[in-house]
Formats: sequence, structure tokens, C-alpha cells
Amino acid sequence: MHRSDLAIVNARVLAMDPDRTRASAVALAAGKVIAIGEDAEIMALADGATRVINAHGRTVLPGFIESHLHLFVGAGELEHLQLLGVEGVDALTEALRDYAAAHPHLPVILGQGCDYDIIGRSLTRQDLDAILPDRPVCVLAADHHTAWANTLALQRAGILEGRSLGPGNEIVMGDDGLATGELREFQAKAPVLALAGAHRIMAGLATGKDPDPYPTEEEFAADCEIMAKGLAHCARLGLTSLTNMDGNLYSLRILDRLRRDGRLTARVKVPFHYTNGSTLTDLDIASQMAQQFDDDWLSSGFVKLFMDGVIDSGTAVMINDYPDRPGWRGEPLWSESEFAAIATEADRRGLQIAVHAIGDGAVRRVLDGYESARLANGPRDARHRIEHIELIDKADIGRLKDLGVIASIQPIHAPGASDFPLQPTMNKIGQARWGDAYLQQSLAHAGVPLAFASDWPVADLNPLRGIQSALQRPIYEGAADERLSLYDILAAYTTGGAAATHSEAQKGQLRAGYLADLVILGGDIEAATPEEIGAMQVEMTICGGQIVWEKDSAF
Ligand SMILES: [Zn+2]
Repeated sequence: MHRSDLAIVNARVLAMDPDRTRASAVALAAGKVIAIGEDAEIMALADGATRVINAHGRTVLPGFIESHLHLFVGAGELEHLQLLGVEGVDALTEALRDYAAAHPHLPVILGQGCDYDIIGRSLTRQDLDAILPDRPVCVLAADHHTAWANTLALQRAGILEGRSLGPGNEIVMGDDGLATGELREFQAKAPVLALAGAHRIMAGLATGKDPDPYPTEEEFAADCEIMAKGLAHCARLGLTSLTNMDGNLYSLRILDRLRRDGRLTARVKVPFHYTNGSTLTDLDIASQMAQQFDDDWLSSGFVKLFMDGVIDSGTAVMINDYPDRPGWRGEPLWSESEFAAIATEADRRGLQIAVHAIGDGAVRRVLDGYESARLANGPRDARHRIEHIELIDKADIGRLKDLGVIASIQPIHAPGASDFPLQPTMNKIGQARWGDAYLQQSLAHAGVPLAFASDWPVADLNPLRGIQSALQRPIYEGAADERLSLYDILAAYTTGGAAATHSEAQKGQLRAGYLADLVILGGDIEAATPEEIGAMQVEMTICGGQIVWEKDSAF
């Protein structure tokens, strides 16, 4: 047995290894876990050069795996006005005016986390004009699917008179023939975001292709700094593996540069984003990304698509009419045959597929497509995924299991569990369907593999707040208790995330031979209340055996 570089002792190690769930110490060397066991066994592997950390009884876990985030977009938004929790005209006015005064040179004042009912109803351009008439303003809903802009922003972006867009996207028009200010889905917001100079960051979401024109070396360097800030944010929160959900080759090149500079502090998987403008031959880009990046640190190998929008704006695709809008079920972004063709071709290329599907109608259409792909190409260990699944027809749960589809769930999104209010979402779903909404336990019970995530910057990236949300998932009236045990929740952030990326033989557990990715928490997670878990900090994050985050004087 080799000498260890680093040993952690006197810990409550939750190894997430079914063969050995608990230990008190772990030894690391050359980027791998070399042993796990009791203090004496682990100390026997130490010598004078080994750094020994006394965890003082705190929890040690495998590094958290964030299974759905938008790293580059979130990184770019770290400096934007944060509106989560801001309610009412007065609070919004103060927040926007203070931020605008502090940022006199920004081409657009961008805000994040705006409640759909922030002033008791949704915003109009006139509401924003009354607050800031002489600066372009655009505030995004927390879910990032809807934005509200003032007149100047709409004018400068060239969309005050509207514009025809692809399915599901809408510049909402008023009776006066001008835009109301509400922008639904990505194509509607894109002109304002471009005005703000966010086009390079947004390219992975907008087209899945590289920014055009291709960034200069100077712009590339600036983008590396933005990405590095996002990675530092992840390291502080104990995240050692990230599955990005928008992407292009450009973002992988940025991450690769950071890796060569010794600044890559988490393992990142980046998809090719197949948008409504893509054609099947564009999957060549996905295959190229898969080929070019395929190691422990940077990988691709999957395709991301959207099937629908979100419940709050009525763009999620439902099997039944929205209770508040008879005759309306949302508009799928792909027809049944279009999606089946894409899924079949991506699957044939050996690529994994991840599809955003929030409404039960969207979930069903994605399952139909996965079924077609399997029929055409034969079964394989594809582990295609469905992202969000906020509503599902119970009849489809068994299909998820049978097709080996991963349910990528964001516990912090469940209305009432954490930052997201119950309304308007729960009314939009209608009480008759609350029993099919935001399921965790029902999916787990049916044997559907779960991977948990935040969808940052849609919600707080902190996995400990995600764990708190999963523990505190409300029991909606007339619906079943969907709370999971702490252990099942931790599994969805570790082993479940590893399985979702076909890497369960390398990570997600602490066992000899596995990657040395782990966290030391600020307390004993099993002894803490949900509130205490949410407030707990990560004291140390280790990725690939390197300490990538260490709280001041924690050890
Ligand atoms: Zn997302």
C-alpha cells in the first residue's frame, strides 16, 4: 500500500458505498482514494509528508455532483442584480435604482430572480419605465424562461413592434400594437441579452454553436475569467462534478484553457445544445465534442434539447387543458416525428440525450421518442434523461423505469419547498393534479434512477439548500408525502449523479480506487435539522486530490 498525500481522520465518513457505508477516516494519494477505514488504519499510511486533517466529528461525503446547471450563464450572472425575495413596487424600485446608480455604464440593467407576481401581478414595460425610464432594463424570472423589459430596452433591441419567432417563443403584444414588455422563452429575450453584451455567454444556450464572429483572444481571456468565477462558486459549495445543460465547443475550450492553467476545480460535462434551428447533420458537432473531450475532467457525449417551457408562463406542455385557460395545453417545441428522428439519430451515434420536459405532455412525448430510438437502434445502456418532470401522468412512471431513463430532479424548484412560492404555479397546475406534481418518493419507489440538481442560475446552486428542500418538500393538499430520507437524497447528489454520467465506477462513492473528490461539511449532517443543513457550510472541497476550497482557518 502506498503512502498517502492527505489523510482525513476523526470524521463521520458517509461513503455512499453500499458495501461499506461508514468509516472514520480516508486516505488520498495521486488524485485517488487509496483507503477508507478507521483512524489507526489510515494513520498507518501516513508519513511526515502527509497532510493529516482532523475533521472533529464532522461529516465527510463524496463531492457533490450537480446534475443540471448552466455554469457559464450562472457565472456571468453573479454580478447581476439579484431580485430573489424582492416583493412589491417599492422594494423593486429601490433595488433597480440603487443597482443602476452603482453601475452607470452598463448597456442594460439586468436583474435575476424576478417573481412572476412581483408587484401582485406580472410586470409591463410601463411599470419598469416608471422606475427607470432612461436606462434599458430587463429583469428575468428565476426560471429564466420569461423576462420583462422596459420601453428603452425593447426599442434598442429592435423588438418594440414585435417580431415573429419560432414555436413556443413569444414577444407578448399589447392592444396598442406594441410589445407589453413580457418576453417568453429564449428567442424573445435574445435581442435584449445581445444588447447587454451577453451573446458569447449565451451562445451555448441560443444555438449550441460557437459565438459568431468567433471571439478574439482578448474576449476569450475575459470569458475564462468569468468561467473561473463560476468554478470558484462551485468549489465553495462542495461541488466536484458538474453536468452543464447548455453548451458548445467554445465553453469546453474555455474550460480546457483553465485546466491547462491549473484552474479547473471541478469535473465538467458539457452537451451540444440542439435548438430549433439545428438540423440532424449538426449532430456532427456533438460527435466531435464527444470525441475531443472524453476524460475524467472534461467530457461531452450528450445532446440537450428543450421539449417545452415552464408552468408559470403557460408554456409547459400538458396532457390536459390548463385549468385557468380552457383549450390551451402549451405548444411542444418538437413534433412527435421530429423528436423521434433526433432521438434516434443521437442514440445511433452513441450519444446520451437530456431533454427539458416540465409538463406531463412533454414528458410523454420525450418517452415516446426514447422508445422509438430504442426500437430503431436496439437497447443499450444509454441512460437518456428527462430534466425537471414537474408534472407526470402516473402511467408514465413505469415507462421511465423500463426505458432506464434518469429522472433529473431539482428539489429546490418544488413550490413551497424553498425559494419558490406556491403561487401562481400550484393554481396553474390545478389541485386535481397536485398528486402528480414534483414527485420524488413516487419515482424512487418505482425504481427510477434519480439525479438531483439546482438548474443554477434558475435556483440557488447550494446543494445543502437542495438537500434541505428535498427534506422539506411540502405535502400538497390531497397528495402523497413525497419526502425522501436523508440517505436517499444524498445518494441523488452523489451515486445518482455519477450514474447519470456513466461514471459510477469512478465517483459518487468514497472507496479505494475512486477519484479523490470529497467534501468536509461544517457539522454532522445526520444530527442536523433540515434548516441547519441548509445553513451549513462546506469547510473543505477536494477534487482530484487537490484542495480546491478551504474555509479560512477551518483546519
Ligand atoms: Zn436548465
